[in-house]
Amino acid sequence: MSSALETLRRDFGGDIIEPGDVEYEAVSGSKLVPGSPAYVLRPGNVDDVRAAVGFASGSGLALSVRGGGHSFPGFGTNDGGVVVDLSRLADVDLVDGERHIVRIGGGATWGQVAAALAPHRLAISSGDTKSVGVGGLTLSGGIGWKVRKYGLALDSLVAAELVTADGAVVTASAEENPELFWAIRGGGGNLGIATAFEFAAHPTTDVFFGKVTFPASEAVEVLQGWAKYLRTAPEELTSIASLANPFAGGHEAPVEIHVAFDGDDQQLADAAIDPIRRLGTVVGDDVALTAYADVLVEGATPPPGLQFVARNAFVDREPVPEVLQILAEVGTSPGSPVIALRSVGGAVSRVADDATAYAHRQAELMVVTLTAGPKPVVDAARPGLDALWGKLAPHVDGAYANFLASAAEEDVAAVYPADTYRRLAAVKRQYDPGNLFAGNHNVRPE
Ligand SMILES: Cc1cc2nc3c(=O)[nH]c(=O)nc-3n(C[C@H](O)[C@H](O)[C@H](O)COP(=O)(O)OP(=O)(O)OC[C@H]3O[C@@H](n4cnc5c(N)ncnc54)[C@H](O)[C@@H]3O)c2cc1C
Repeated sequence: MSSALETLRRDFGGDIIEPGDVEYEAVSGSKLVPGSPAYVLRPGNVDDVRAAVGFASGSGLALSVRGGGHSFPGFGTNDGGVVVDLSRLADVDLVDGERHIVRIGGGATWGQVAAALAPHRLAISSGDTKSVGVGGLTLSGGIGWKVRKYGLALDSLVAAELVTADGAVVTASAEENPELFWAIRGGGGNLGIATAFEFAAHPTTDVFFGKVTFPASEAVEVLQGWAKYLRTAPEELTSIASLANPFAGGHEAPVEIHVAFDGDDQQLADAAIDPIRRLGTVVGDDVALTAYADVLVEGATPPPGLQFVARNAFVDREPVPEVLQILAEVGTSPGSPVIALRSVGGAVSRVADDATAYAHRQAELMVVTLTAGPKPVVDAARPGLDALWGKLAPHVDGAYANFLASAAEEDVAAVYPADTYRRLAAVKRQYDPGNLFAGNHNVRPE
């Protein structure tokens, strides 16, 4: 341990932050989960990342890698181990203006990316929040406001530079180490630390963005009509439905259909969104032309002590009506979850299931429940949550790693179908045989 530390102090040019240091409190936890690591290492370049990986592996301490720090299970921190905080690796450069190739540091956030690309009228379909990290979101999927037109964030990835468990710097792309490239597109942080990503960005205009709101009493008809319409809606339209929001009246909360239409032509946007407006009694409609970078919201840092339970599953075409019926009839009580339904499909489904380690390509919708509150409230809400998911279970399958707050074996099995898991484990054996990168939905090398 002491020699590993000596080597670190010699080779590492970034920040080493330890308990008692002025900055420690600000960097010890991740955004949603507190932590008390022995060392927070903030590398300033790739060589620092190599030194940090060498230290973690030589010291035998648990390693957490932090991109934007938003993981629900708190993968970006630990107690007593090493955290490699990538926030200083946040450059965003347009490296090929013709092909729109953008090189992004492994610790950048999507807000930094959107702001840097806006002057070039470019965008990458990412997520809905500025402070979420490019690393965590991309390596497990990335379901954002242009998902139906351009697919997942990882579908726009063309290459990544990684530091692997043995300290090597490798490129993963269709041409170089293609199996590793397959694995990092869905395999989360299992394979190494991505120090840089290269994406093919897409030209963007301002977009029509906002929400159309209906009374809770019309939930069943609105949701059924919405899901049916999405099958024929133009792929420029991406949409999220939310209901039973406990902060807006629980069971009585209005049904909100959030829409993003990728384009600035009012007529085309109306043609795409009007069928949604006709689904019921519109009690609110704030859809307006918005700069794409402003569509992403700031991620608020929650007050200490708040706990989060995020669960999700995918819904294939056939069981959609049944699932919507269950959700619309759900009763709510204090601590009930926010329920959101994300439309996927479109470009996501045009990629073969085995083309990337993200395998849930054929789903039409994703159901997400998010329960938040102090521990007693969350504990009291668990039986209701289990009952809801028990009702949904026969009609849904799989899970999206990025919207899970737990990482138990059954979660990993839901994220990775058996074939995907086996193939990922083979790549893991090659690049991380000792399972140094275990702070994630872990794929075991053995
Ligand atoms: C407010 C909020 C809004 C969200 N909105 C969306 C959304 O719209 N769409 C969506 O798809 N998801 C969304 N998510 C989920 C989000 O994608 C995950 O929480 C994701 O893990 C966050 O990535 P991060 O880098 O910020 O997190 P971190 O906690 O830093 O990292 C998460 C995991 O990724 C690994 N990792 C991160 N960066 C790297 C890297 N460079 N190299 C190797 N491993 C790395 C970490 O080790 C860890 O295992 C949201 C989450 C929150 C809290």
